Amino acid sequence: MHYDYLIVGAGLYGATFANIISKQGRTCLVIEKKNHIGGNVYTKNINGINVHMYGAHIFHTSDEEVWNYVNQFADFNNYINSPIANFKGELYHLPFNMNTFKEMWGVETPEEAKKIIEEQRAKEGIDNPTNLEEQALSLVGRDIYEKLIKGYTEKQWGRDCKDLPSFIIRRLPLRFEYNNNYFNDKYQGIPIGGYTGIIEKMLEGIEVRLGTDYKTFLANEAAGKDITFDLVLYTGPIDEYFDYKLGQLEFRSLCFKNEILSEVDDYQGNAVMNYTDRETPYTRIIEHKHFEFNKCKGTVVTKEYPAAWKPGDEPYYPINDERNNALYEKYRILAEKEEGVIFGGRLGSYKYYDMDKVIAAAIDAARAEL
Ligand SMILES: Cc1cc2nc3c(=O)[nH]c(=O)nc-3n(C[C@H](O)[C@H](O)[C@H](O)COP(=O)(O)OP(=O)(O)OC[C@H]3O[C@@H](n4cnc5c(N)ncnc54)[C@H](O)[C@@H]3O)c2cc1C
Repeated sequence: MHYDYLIVGAGLYGATFANIISKQGRTCLVIEKKNHIGGNVYTKNINGINVHMYGAHIFHTSDEEVWNYVNQFADFNNYINSPIANFKGELYHLPFNMNTFKEMWGVETPEEAKKIIEEQRAKEGIDNPTNLEEQALSLVGRDIYEKLIKGYTEKQWGRDCKDLPSFIIRRLPLRFEYNNNYFNDKYQGIPIGGYTGIIEKMLEGIEVRLGTDYKTFLANEAAGKDITFDLVLYTGPIDEYFDYKLGQLEFRSLCFKNEILSEVDDYQGNAVMNYTDRETPYTRIIEHKHFEFNKCKGTVVTKEYPAAWKPGDEPYYPINDERNNALYEKYRILAEKEEGVIFGGRLGSYKYYDMDKVIAAAIDAARAEL
């Protein structure tokens, strides 16, 4: 068999690329090392509830083209992300807005809230923050920092805020309106029926081989020339492609613990509850049915635990510090020289990408090919 493209990875990037080029008459074979399609956006139906198996995914974009593109594959509901923060039983609306300030200080007007924040910032007297704690204090003052930022961030990174670089938090948007919409984008929602359905439709009519790792595939099926291809689109980790010859790029990982609660119809009344104290070991509880306004009996919740990453673990968040960025740059130069291979997606680019940005990048890459 001969294909124009071998696409490595059936995540959002690989599936978008495959969908566009195959519509233009190019042939492709998609290989995916996991036993399911979708990569990080994979959703699985458990007891009638679409469970986001690799963390909560809320689609949001201001990119008209991307929005029209994904709407070919699913209808989106009008879910608006409005997480709640739980600090030792005190509940606060997120993102930081007038509801949060009312809950924290009892104030009702933007002027009152701004005054408190200004006073708290001034009290800290920090002009040149040298770490994340100082940065946050200089931006929002002590109350918000201690109740809503400190514990959550320390759990996320596994380190004290004083030992984290200030660049992790460049800005902390404060909204002086009663508006709990987490995102500012023009479009937002959850695909009705889950994300896996989108990927299935994108890959309709395209040959997909699950449980197939790239290197093993090259050593077996492709080695005997039973399968040939002109180009490779590679969406796996860039350092793995080069057999880690320059060193390993680092990630932060997550551990998800799903609980099926058949006797509970509504566990927390909201899709996303952030636990912002240091003591609770998880950072969030996701109750999936609320993403789709699902009124079925029973519920499924997922506790999200930040975890140190070691080679072999699921890579979630790239650690874009100086060391890793410099290493990635070296791999990027190697990748540029690699003939017949296009690198893409979050792992191929060692970059945190929202879904809309991944789709936009894959559309651009496919266009460049056509
Ligand atoms: C916890 C979490 C929450 C997120 N929430 C949001 C959100 O709310 N909104 C939003 O817009 N974005 C969110 N994102 C980002 C979103 O997940 C990504 O934008 C998107 O999934 C990236 O798609 P991708 O195809 O680049 O990568 P992936 O989904 O990782 O796909 C790559 C695929 O390649 C496969 N692969 C890797 N190596 C090989 C190999 N050697 N051989 C064969 N196959 C291989 C992998 O198994 C995987 O299936 C979130 C990300 C995380 C980590």
